[in-house]
Amino acid sequence: MVNALTTNAPSGGIEFHNVQISDPKDFEVKLKPLYTGICGTDRGEVHGNLSFAYNHPGYNFLVLGHEAVCQVIDAQENEYGIKTGDYVVPVVRRPGECVNCRIGREDNCSDGKKNEAGITGLHGFMRDYFFDMPENLVKVNDRSMVREAVLTEPAKNVMKAFEVFDTVSRRSIFQNKDSTFIGKNCLIIGSGSEAFLYSMMANEYRFNVYMTNRHSLEESKLSILEKTGSIFFDYTSGIPLKGIDLLIDTSGDPATIFRFVRTMNNNGVAILFGTKGNAPGTQVNGEDIDYIIERNISMVGSVDGSKKHYLDALRYIEKWNHAHNSVIGDLITGTYSPENTEIFLKKPEGEIKSIIKW
Ligand code: NAP
Repeated sequence: MVNALTTNAPSGGIEFHNVQISDPKDFEVKLKPLYTGICGTDRGEVHGNLSFAYNHPGYNFLVLGHEAVCQVIDAQENEYGIKTGDYVVPVVRRPGECVNCRIGREDNCSDGKKNEAGITGLHGFMRDYFFDMPENLVKVNDRSMVREAVLTEPAKNVMKAFEVFDTVSRRSIFQNKDSTFIGKNCLIIGSGSEAFLYSMMANEYRFNVYMTNRHSLEESKLSILEKTGSIFFDYTSGIPLKGIDLLIDTSGDPATIFRFVRTMNNNGVAILFGTKGNAPGTQVNGEDIDYIIERNISMVGSVDGSKKHYLDALRYIEKWNHAHNSVIGDLITGTYSPENTEIFLKKPEGEIKSIIKW
């Protein structure tokens, strides 16, 4: 028996209770979650809005949680160097049989037959302990940032999206003639945790970084952006930039996306990342299509990331933990106990990232 936060996927609900989950006969690593992060996907599952989520086979529930940092409490000898006492981040996606899954790129799964812990057919990490294989674990070497390492999973999405940008932007010359991106504009739609992580990475590329939403932002959030050199604007009061080179959407709102696509520069790249299945549609007219074609604009989706992106994410979190006055820790705006299930039902005021301490 183990204490766990569960839902019944895809219909929803949330419970913190003692459940029976059979331990694997041959385990390699036993893990104790220390912190788990809550994101829009968890809330979508709890509200029954994630039609593609499903329970772990053989159970009438699904343990929630795909963002975690854990301590290894027991490990058999293994070729990945994972040892008892290590701090690790477990990866979310588990490969199927397709060609991309077989080369470690389950983030680019070709047939959709992968599993995702806490989302699609595999129990997640919001429980007292669980077992896993060492190949699914990414070691956190800097022990001073165990709490911050819970941001590795959301940050790995950002690493993958910038890999997508690197690939797609090569279809023509995107950078300046001095080979940099200095002076080019990156606009990020939305102001949640992923948007903040995107703004930090866009700063690494030396873009002029803007973030926008349909309302103003709390002082606490503005001061984080100020530390990293990004600018926020409420787009309902006007748009203070001319020409977007890289557009990153975390809102999933079609009308807002197309509003900004029509302000993109030639050879611009738009990365669609946010999802909002229940968002109302929008009218895309012939002029929108012509605008995209005439300017060689690339619109591309990006989902998840591979183990390589977890490693990249940890490297940047470590860097950001020591730079900009430890700004990375500021992204964690609340720490809660697992009993506090309310946190899944309503976003707390001023939230960037809420986490659960186990
Ligand atoms: P989040 O905290 O819910 O962020 C979404 C942001 O979009 C919020 O700041 C929200 O503003 C804003 N927004 C919503 N409608 C908007 C509009 N019309 N105009 C401007 N901004 C708008 O979620 P998150 O954890 O940062 O994740 C961002 C999105 O990515 C979510 O949709 C999530 O499901 C998705 N996601 C995708 C992947 C992937 O691999 N592609 C992975 C993880 C998450 P308010 O706070 O005011 O509502």
